[in-house]
Amino acid sequence: MPARTGQEYIAGLKDRPREVWIDGELVKDVTTHPGLRNGVKSVAALYDMQRHPALREEMTFASPTTGDAVGLSFQVPRTIEDLMRKREMMSRWAWASCGMMGRSPDFMNTIFTAWAGSADYFAQDRPEFKQNVLNYHEFLRENDVTLTHALVNMQRRRTPNASDTLSEDVALTLVKETDAGIIVKGSRVLATLGPISDEIAIYPVASHRLADEDGRHSFSFSIPCDTPGLKFLCRESFDVGRSHFNHPLGSRFEEMDCAVFFDNVLVPWERVFLLGNVELCNNYAAGTQSNAHTGHQVLNRCVVKAEFILGLADLIVETLGSGSIPHVQEQVAELITQRDMLQACLRAAEADATPNEWGMMNPASAPIQAGRALFGRTIYPRMVEIIQLLGTSSLMALPAEADFDAGIAPEVNRYLATDSTNAWERARLFHLAWDVSCSAFSGRQVLYERMFGGNPVRNALALFNTYDKEPFRTKVRAFLELDD
Ligand SMILES: Cc1cc2nc3c(=O)[nH]c(=O)nc-3n(C[C@H](O)[C@H](O)[C@H](O)COP(=O)(O)OP(=O)(O)OC[C@H]3O[C@@H](n4cnc5c(N)ncnc54)[C@H](O)[C@@H]3O)c2cc1C
Repeated sequence: MPARTGQEYIAGLKDRPREVWIDGELVKDVTTHPGLRNGVKSVAALYDMQRHPALREEMTFASPTTGDAVGLSFQVPRTIEDLMRKREMMSRWAWASCGMMGRSPDFMNTIFTAWAGSADYFAQDRPEFKQNVLNYHEFLRENDVTLTHALVNMQRRRTPNASDTLSEDVALTLVKETDAGIIVKGSRVLATLGPISDEIAIYPVASHRLADEDGRHSFSFSIPCDTPGLKFLCRESFDVGRSHFNHPLGSRFEEMDCAVFFDNVLVPWERVFLLGNVELCNNYAAGTQSNAHTGHQVLNRCVVKAEFILGLADLIVETLGSGSIPHVQEQVAELITQRDMLQACLRAAEADATPNEWGMMNPASAPIQAGRALFGRTIYPRMVEIIQLLGTSSLMALPAEADFDAGIAPEVNRYLATDSTNAWERARLFHLAWDVSCSAFSGRQVLYERMFGGNPVRNALALFNTYDKEPFRTKVRAFLELDD
């Protein structure tokens, strides 16, 4: 089947009702629920791009199975040019949400594509798991399936140990193996795009290592979101029914985050990719290099988001007429430096890409790791802060769309115009700046960038413990030993 249209994606969600709870309500249809439907529309618009005559060549490639034009994010890259072509396609999707939808479907597509390109990893324990991965990747590609994932077990307590304290009454746990498949029970966080995806993938995450005794929590699988016993619990929606003028981002890009509960859920054998092997589960990311591929997608989206923030900041400065003030220039220059640094990391990741032992071209991990870590920890929170510093009271002296048709309109039009911009255009721009820097939607964006790639403290500890620092120590020792 060729790449899907948006309408086909929506029809697929309607055909397969799943158990989704939001604010005490069991959602009947996620495509019409007021808190979810605009997010559905935004994902649908991404799929439509793949079938748009002017974009089809950029967004798709010929299926190795049918020859149909299928989504390019499913292509196993063999050359640096493949990586660059894929990045251009991913940029097109990222720009559609100004970088605000972290879970455009290419994010998860790159995971399973990387696994397919390293499928021998999954055969180490049980040869049939390799075929499961390959078959599943083909199924995703040929049906253009939308995926969510939930990698972190719920915990009742936390310790500084490398591995989590997992208790069987909350963590997702293997109950038993049957002829039909495995039965699992427990809970996971955090499935972004969960209620509006077709399937959910469950696998371990490097930042939350499994202990030797965690065999019953060690697995990787994927199942449809309407599988009996699977329940999604949504947070409050940030799409509160306001217009695109008033809430330009929240009214479009609500991708929803969920806790996921599994009530004795059956996972068919053909959907199991790893089972019971703690070592393979802990090392799959390095073993398959899938993190480099998702990191490539993420870093590309970070560049898009940085460019969007830079453009927004410059429009704020122009609108307020503040561009001759030195510290305003310095703040915009800081955004430029951040954008250029991210872009440099992305280019380095592609330029230094190397093929793995199975011929898949992997972006270089180090620049991806550096760009991602800096973006979440410092760059994006600081970008949001700069929008607040540049926008100041304009983020609050902000008429709603309706005020332009109300009795207060003459005052609004008179007092809120600036030298460069009329009141309506100023208000439209500052609603966007508000949704980037002050709204509930914006708070979630900062939290997302900080945390979605795993807890940054845990990631930093892993970097400290695995990074080869010896070459630099050697240089310092050599200097200390100089005689003159
Ligand atoms: C908006 C958003 C969307 C997300 N989307 C997804 C998604 O779609 N899929 C997905 O799988 N994940 C997603 N995540 C990430 C994920 O679910 C977790 O939030 C993240 O991995 C952190 O884990 P945690 O909440 O269990 O926190 P923990 O890691 O348990 O941390 C809680 C606190 O304890 C400290 N801490 C606990 N244990 C340790 C330790 N061993 N070492 C150091 N510090 C420790 C932390 O510093 C922190 O202060 C998302 C996160 C956010 C915020």
